[in-house]
Amino acid sequence: MQRIKSFEINHDVLVPGFYISREDGDVITYDLRTRRPNMGDYMSDAVMHSVEHMFATYARNSEYADSVIYFGPMGCQTGFYFLLRNTVTPQQAFELTKDILRKTIAHEGDIFGKSAKECGHFENLDLSLAKEECKTYLAALEAQKDMTFAYPTR
Ligand SMILES: [Zn+2]
Repeated sequence: MQRIKSFEINHDVLVPGFYISREDGDVITYDLRTRRPNMGDYMSDAVMHSVEHMFATYARNSEYADSVIYFGPMGCQTGFYFLLRNTVTPQQAFELTKDILRKTIAHEGDIFGKSAKECGHFENLDLSLAKEECKTYLAALEAQKDMTFAYPTR
């Protein structure tokens, strides 16, 4: 078996931030890393699910809606994948991500798609959990210095 590209990055030195994971044709996969891997600190399913509903809805209603391919949590519970067409530059994707985090933090009312008709586990959604996660992650992005979005190597 060939080892897939995301297994080749060094998870030992990965810190919360915004990274380019891979490029496939005109699609760029971004690694929205919210936690340090393998440090005993993981997002709960309710956190990931709540952020997913908010982020995906805001992304698909943004000025870049037509370029959004996918947003969803990583199975390891330490981040999310955000897939966009390369008509959106990495800098624009970074700004869009921060904008969506701010919108989620300021969001009032219900979580988007919180009903049995719209979701496979709608009771597992909590806006306060999404806001808390987005606040922590936004702080990490506001402190990020590397605007090449390359993974750290050491
Ligand atoms: Zn859902």
